[in-house]
Amino acid sequence: MVRGGAQGVLFIVSAPSGAGKTTLLRKVISQLSGVSLSISFTTRDPRPDEREEVDYFFVPRTKFINMEKEEKFIEWAEVHGDLYGTPRANLEKLQRGEDLILEIDTQGARKIKEELQNGVLIFILPPSLEVLRERLRGRSGDSEEAIQARLQNAQNELDQMAWYDYIVINREVKEATKELTSIILAERCKTARVLRDRGGEYG
Ligand code: 5GP
Repeated sequence: MVRGGAQGVLFIVSAPSGAGKTTLLRKVISQLSGVSLSISFTTRDPRPDEREEVDYFFVPRTKFINMEKEEKFIEWAEVHGDLYGTPRANLEKLQRGEDLILEIDTQGARKIKEELQNGVLIFILPPSLEVLRERLRGRSGDSEEAIQARLQNAQNELDQMAWYDYIVINREVKEATKELTSIILAERCKTARVLRDRGGEYG
């Protein structure tokens, strides 16, 4: 669904690794029309269950750096020693009236907020730090060293949640999905947005 004449809404979703963000967002996308996930570029190796162009565009560091020089990214950041970037071209969907979700870290979220002065910021929290630890340990493909780095980074990410617009606590997938879809639907109905996009039609 494309809301005719309208500019799409940009959603920026951050969470510490292991908060369950990807599962939640996949569910949201399957339940709502008119919204898609932005696929980032990364220099990290794919995990066993990940697919090229579905989870990320996996590229060598040299290619990523060249793309960065060519200003192909609207934002990029180094996370856990790897580079991650959002292709500028992905934002074109907004002009076509489609909503877009960026799944990015707090550094990238801040850059987008400052540079574009646009975007609805949503932070996803795990039910507790203990659950976060368990989830990171249970994930295939990551070494103990990588898990420790992610846990440390999680604490830094949690310190950033205060400047987000919404916080969703992922206690239970069904409930958290409902909260996320509600945020998206409510944002589409914001008075300022409707008047900007459709005000002319009502005199
Ligand atoms: P993971 O390696 O677990 O998929 O992601 C690690 C972190 O990188 C997560 O916090 C994720 O949101 C973030 N990330 C993924 N893509 C991007 C991106 O394009 N830009 C930024 N700044 N962070 C990203």
